[in-house]
Amino acid sequence: MVTNQVKTTCSYCGVGCGIVVKKDINNKVFVEGDKDHPVNKGMLCSKGMNLHYVVNDTSDRILYPEMRWSRSHPRERVSWDDALDRASSVFKSIIKKYGPDSVGFYVSGQSLTEEYYIANKLTKGFLGTNNIDTNSRLCMSSAVVGYKKTFGEDSVPISYEDIELADCFLITGANPAWCHPILFRRIEKRKEENPDVQIIVIDPRKTDSANFADLHLQLIPGTDVVLYNAIGRRLFERGLIDEKFIKYHTEGLVLYKDLIFSTSVKQASKLCGVPEKDIKKAADIIGLSKGFISMWAMGLNQSVVGTDKNVSLLNLSLITGQIGKPGSGPFSLTGQPNAMGGREVGGMANLLAVHKDLMNEEHRREVAQFWGVDKISDKPGYTATEMFEALESGKLKAVWIACTNPLVSLPNIHQIERAMKKAKFVVVQDISHKSDTVDYADLVLPAAGWLEKEGTMTNSERRISYLPKEIDSPGEARPDVEIFCDFAQRMGFRGFNYSNTSEIYDEYASMTKGTNIDVSFLNYDRLKNEGTFQWPVPEYRHQGTPRLFEDKKFYTSSQKAQFNLPSTIKNTSVQPSEDFPLILTTGRVRDQWHTMTKTGKVSRLKTHYPTPVLEINPVDAYLCKLKDGGIAEIKSENGVVRVRAKITDTIKKGVVFLPMHWGKRLQSDLNRTNNLTNTYVDPVSKEPDFKFTCVSVSKY
Ligand code: SF4
Repeated sequence: MVTNQVKTTCSYCGVGCGIVVKKDINNKVFVEGDKDHPVNKGMLCSKGMNLHYVVNDTSDRILYPEMRWSRSHPRERVSWDDALDRASSVFKSIIKKYGPDSVGFYVSGQSLTEEYYIANKLTKGFLGTNNIDTNSRLCMSSAVVGYKKTFGEDSVPISYEDIELADCFLITGANPAWCHPILFRRIEKRKEENPDVQIIVIDPRKTDSANFADLHLQLIPGTDVVLYNAIGRRLFERGLIDEKFIKYHTEGLVLYKDLIFSTSVKQASKLCGVPEKDIKKAADIIGLSKGFISMWAMGLNQSVVGTDKNVSLLNLSLITGQIGKPGSGPFSLTGQPNAMGGREVGGMANLLAVHKDLMNEEHRREVAQFWGVDKISDKPGYTATEMFEALESGKLKAVWIACTNPLVSLPNIHQIERAMKKAKFVVVQDISHKSDTVDYADLVLPAAGWLEKEGTMTNSERRISYLPKEIDSPGEARPDVEIFCDFAQRMGFRGFNYSNTSEIYDEYASMTKGTNIDVSFLNYDRLKNEGTFQWPVPEYRHQGTPRLFEDKKFYTSSQKAQFNLPSTIKNTSVQPSEDFPLILTTGRVRDQWHTMTKTGKVSRLKTHYPTPVLEINPVDAYLCKLKDGGIAEIKSENGVVRVRAKITDTIKKGVVFLPMHWGKRLQSDLNRTNNLTNTYVDPVSKEPDFKFTCVSVSKY
């Protein structure tokens, strides 16, 4: 018998589906899609529809704080007072001895906005360091830089409802059929109802998304910039550009045009391994469409030239004038449920809250004044990979890791292991003992999970939703925001004595007043009573903003969108060699989420892709003497992986694929894909180069 029900939002991907949660008399939870929700209209993917198993099974949960006094002793159960007193005393003494930049926080795109805001305020405002970064660095930071360079601010211009108005989709480096399933259902429906709608997928793998497409451009990894420029050139040659939009609403065309005309479509075809006729066809489809949407995810962002790829793709929206009108615009597909909310509150090492810029003195002064502190440091903090490099080198002494599992998800895991061993003090705040990162913790803090705390999140289309607390946490677990505030007060900082989460949200919302992400007229009452809203919500009774730039005024100083040139058209990653002749690209599988601490608990989610396998083209498999199902040994400069081989012509010759989810706890340390991945990052976005590591493959 169902006792009550509440509405909330899925805790997995950035699509942000609405979920109805029901409880029976034994407090067991059930979930179903929210038919009234504008995002999913009742649909849920395999991960979302099995969320109740994750909530009801508490066998892996961290139930109480655990601490060890030295590395030679095991951790033991302690009280919250002892745990947070120890944390504050260690942080105080390290900061006193080595300065504020000797400590750092590594947080998560799964954190709620209020948690992100408080962690950011604590670190930048009160600890006096900008050493706070997030696993969103691994996901969207190249897109953030692209948006800022092109539009003047990190702003996703469109809504999911534009999907139903578009007639051309260009999907690059993403497999939304698996990784953003409910969004992809909307694209499929659009195509089914309007067969003339055209879908182009650019990907070295023939994914389920590519199988559904009208045109699949199976490029050589890393050559996206060349391909986009060739499409741009063809659009010019065919006269399929919007001259009026370019003239009145953009700047920088001349240099861009020079660049794209410096390489012929034929030359580009050779460089990217895509037939010339297909490049021309793609350009013609885009140029002749009335509504053109580009979508992309990690395949574009996780690259040493991630920023270059992003600006080059955005240039296509500018030359076609396909922005600020129904059914058109660029649309980055956020991986995590609240990566967008984290960006809003400045939860990255180079950002400040409300999209203010850390490198802008006036912005630092405004934020410091708002928080009532003397100043914000002008020194950029360590980004995700820099933070662990700094731990390894000894520059960073203490790290506080919340809601993320870097011992599986960061590149070059062996380096992360060395870094964690070298750290003087490691705090891990998480829900599950199955996180590999917990093994390295001096202090483990049990956090509340989904449904066990309240707060807000922002999905990929700028939609803010309220998530209620519906059940109590097991054991002594506490909401992350409460843990951060308690720690801050033990550090002696004022400004963290909130009586509820709503006060934290209101503080952040008041900070947005007058900015481009103004939500100062949105509060918990409106979110609870009226549902979700897309920012900005700048006035009383404002219903939110589904589409940005309809007035063609951009957030740059001239109000014009900017054509940007890539710093290079080449992929600057280390190229294949005799020793490491194949390109490894990594990614996700349909039914698993990140490092599987949640989805790994659900048996039915393991049937689709039960163990990690190496996808390899038949020609490469033959050269490596590999048989289908045989064990492959994959080596890079950084490490080794051994998994079964799956021989398939869905992957381009010269490229191999491994899924990123499995860690030591779930399989073995020889199954971890990130044993292999390189440590290169994009020089601007600092996003790691997960999609291009040179490897060798042999039969084991
Ligand atoms: Fe959850 Fe994403 Fe699936 Fe929707 S598409 S149910 S948000 S995992």
